[in-house]
Amino acid sequence: MEIQNLTQRLTERKINPTAMRILVLDQLLHSDVAMSLMDLEIVLDSADRVTIYRTLKKFEEKNLVHTIEDGTGSIKYAICESNCQCTTDFTHAHFHCTTCEQTFCLRNIHLPEIKLPKNFQAEQSSFILKGTCDHCSVK
Ligand SMILES: [Zn+2]
Ligand SMILES: [Zn+2]
Repeated sequence: MEIQNLTQRLTERKINPTAMRILVLDQLLHSDVAMSLMDLEIVLDSADRVTIYRTLKKFEEKNLVHTIEDGTGSIKYAICESNCQCTTDFTHAHFHCTTCEQTFCLRNIHLPEIKLPKNFQAEQSSFILKGTCDHCSVK
């Protein structure tokens, strides 16, 4: 993606487009799987962990990314759709492949609206399917 588009994507969410933020956004947009802090640290080998972490926290706060707890113990980050207002993985299902250990956003699989008992208020939910992804199942 063009730098210009990346910058725009950040400013749209009222995020000041620093070089690091542009780099992290570019990585997340080019990845078809959700990435952990460690994954990003590996691909951006000149950046330090704290800076990447702060960048992700900023993105999360501004609803540019959502977090996924896939049961592996490390939080994964994925880009939100451009019109998404969610802060958690409320809207779509996620899939964790137990073979390649990648976590995917299943953006077309929307979660059903859940009617909670009176006075229950959900703030977070996660819907993780586990199994074998398309890539691993045809091997
Ligand atoms: Zn897989
Ligand atoms: Zn997702």
